[in-house]
Amino acid sequence: MHVLVCGGGGYIGSHMLKKLAAGGVELSVLDNFSTGHREAVRWGTLIEGDLLDPASLERAFAGRRFDAVMHFCARSLVGESIAQPYDYYANNVSGTLNLLQAMRAHDVRRLVFSSTAAVFGQPVSERIDEDHPKAPINPYGASKLMVERILADAASAYGLRSVALRYFNAAGASPDGDIGESHQPETHLIPNVLRAALGSGPALKVFGDDYPTPDGTCVRDYVHVDDLAQAHQLALAYLDDNAGAHAFNLGNGHGFSVREVIAAAQAVSGQEIGYTVEPRRPGDPSVLVASSEKARRVLGWSPAYTALEPIIASAWRWHRAQPY
Ligand code: UDP
Repeated sequence: MHVLVCGGGGYIGSHMLKKLAAGGVELSVLDNFSTGHREAVRWGTLIEGDLLDPASLERAFAGRRFDAVMHFCARSLVGESIAQPYDYYANNVSGTLNLLQAMRAHDVRRLVFSSTAAVFGQPVSERIDEDHPKAPINPYGASKLMVERILADAASAYGLRSVALRYFNAAGASPDGDIGESHQPETHLIPNVLRAALGSGPALKVFGDDYPTPDGTCVRDYVHVDDLAQAHQLALAYLDDNAGAHAFNLGNGHGFSVREVIAAAQAVSGQEIGYTVEPRRPGDPSVLVASSEKARRVLGWSPAYTALEPIIASAWRWHRAQPY
């Protein structure tokens, strides 16, 4: 089995490489390192290339026979997507179309695609399952939903088999502490909280405490990155026997508020973590919590991490070892 991992230098992509390599899968990795990290590509053959450059895709596919593609390349920040929508539609939609065309040209018929909870917009039910209305409220979610639609059309027209995995909030790090979450600039809550605990990041800001939630701060469903990687492996196996375009929501089914995340990080780190309350961040829904019953039932997914503290503890181990 030879898998092309697009975006293997990124947070979730690098954890995927580690898991696939442990399973003996042959790996090629395509990355342009716009947001990913060279040092995170510790497994597989690196091909530097850009989805917006069809020539570099051709270089990646020529002379190799991939059984499947896992596609993690994307711009993925809600606020940035509102400020720079063209970049989001270009990278996430046009870039993916280029990849799909290269796959078709080289007769690669299986894809596991990174989608997002942002395809749903404001929730209309307590837990979001796959049938929840899809009404994205920011260009990031809209760009991913467009790709999901393209994948459905590609299944009908070209027989492409695909699984879109809609991540809720990816969190944590490999328990060995060799890879973790690092963005430049960092915008995600858990890394920002832990860097504040280490005294190595900017002062922590909480974006909004007037949401209609129990403590007024946004509620999210944090799912461990290794559990996400496990779901990708299961999704790939699912495509052996299942034609068509499929989608699964991946979260652990429990919502935690921003304040609860800060409290858990204080417990894990033993540090007092101060913060200021700032205005709401544009494009943030108040609550996003998954129902992942379908992934459990159909894929046999069984996330190892359900509580918040062990997830934060794995991230803390990694952050503490960084030369900030
Ligand atoms: N958040 C925050 N301070 C930060 C980063 C994030 O208050 O420094 C909030 C953010 O407004 C959202 C939640 O934490 O309600 C999770 O944000 P994150 O960027 O981690 O993930 P997202 O839900 O946008 O994918």
